Amino acid sequence: MKGRNLLMIPGPIEFTPEVMAAMAQPTTSHVAGDFVECFGESLEMMREVFLAPSAQPFILAGSGTLAMDAAVANIVEPGDGVLTVNSGYFSDRMGDIAARYGAEVTNLSGSLGDIPSADEVRKALQDGDYRVVTITHVDTSTGVMADVEAISRVADDAGALVIVDGVCSTAGAECRSEEWGVDIHLTASQKAIGVPPGLALLTVSPEAMEAFRSRKTPVPSYYAGFDKWLPIMEAYEGRGPAYFGTPAVNLVAALNVSLGQILSEGMDARFERHHRLARAFRAGMRALGMDFVPAREDLYAPTLSAVYYPEGIGPDLVPAIAAEGVMTAGGLHPQIKEKYFRVGHMGAVNASDIIATVAAVERALKTKGYEFEPGSGVAAAEELLCR
Ligand SMILES: *Cc1c(COP(=O)(O)O)cnc(C)c1O
Repeated sequence: MKGRNLLMIPGPIEFTPEVMAAMAQPTTSHVAGDFVECFGESLEMMREVFLAPSAQPFILAGSGTLAMDAAVANIVEPGDGVLTVNSGYFSDRMGDIAARYGAEVTNLSGSLGDIPSADEVRKALQDGDYRVVTITHVDTSTGVMADVEAISRVADDAGALVIVDGVCSTAGAECRSEEWGVDIHLTASQKAIGVPPGLALLTVSPEAMEAFRSRKTPVPSYYAGFDKWLPIMEAYEGRGPAYFGTPAVNLVAALNVSLGQILSEGMDARFERHHRLARAFRAGMRALGMDFVPAREDLYAPTLSAVYYPEGIGPDLVPAIAAEGVMTAGGLHPQIKEKYFRVGHMGAVNASDIIATVAAVERALKTKGYEFEPGSGVAAAEELLCR
């Protein structure tokens, strides 16, 4: 019997064998020629994956929260107005970080499962003095996807810088950073980027780098300061050695492989594959009588589904699905934690994974005495996958 479950949580995800093989290479010096090449190439590929051709990429050792922290610490100064377009738990976290660095934070929240519209953001920006707007592309607590394009354009019109938390979306859901006017686009390795946890990744627009350079106060974080890391990124990209803090050598080797795989699939093909698989997964859940946390179809994310348990079923469904071979995640949003579960479908995920997951949900529902026609969820998903 296979010793491990299919991992369908919103990160870490299933990684490709090539990425895992890169992790297992002997650790080299962080200033060795082949590692400098690997790091430099990874920075170049990041611009393509983040669709940010003029941006400055950063690769830091740390989790996604470090990427959020670095984004805020480097461009926000005490007293700055920060507008958080809030769609859940991780939007709250971005607001908390900005407040920690002395910003005047305003949370613009929709109702649970929704997000303020671009028009509401425009009104809020007219009514206040904001230097930065933060957007969570896909909030992992609700599965709600923001219209980054529309909100960024509104923010740009108001002269505000835009930070996009793409931890649950980058390289899975379309984000044309430069075209859409995103200033800092950040993510972490363990989600749709497809590398084990431990890397914080950011691309920073020329306007945001200028905001960093013209700060009136020093960056209050020592480890996350662009003043420390910019010379390192520039050295590696120029194929020279440099040191500030030891990079996560094996993770960077794995990142290089994963970014190469992402680019060989092609960004548009990759976004479309995520949509197709997500639609099939949702069709499966719907056929079993389940509904989703996002309030409307246009808010559904291609990377993650937040699914309400059907009538009479509760959080012990998640371990029951695990017993059937698939790891999913329980609820995270405090208001509805006991009412829904979350399934990540991003990165190297394929049609077989979707079918396996829907089938495991069916068997788990049966063990809980839920009434439905076995195979109806699988059939609905398969119907879309056959199109
Ligand atoms: C996972 C996640 C984070 C936090 O990333 P960590 O690597 O756990 O620190 C932040 N934002 C979003 C949208 C996420 O999905």
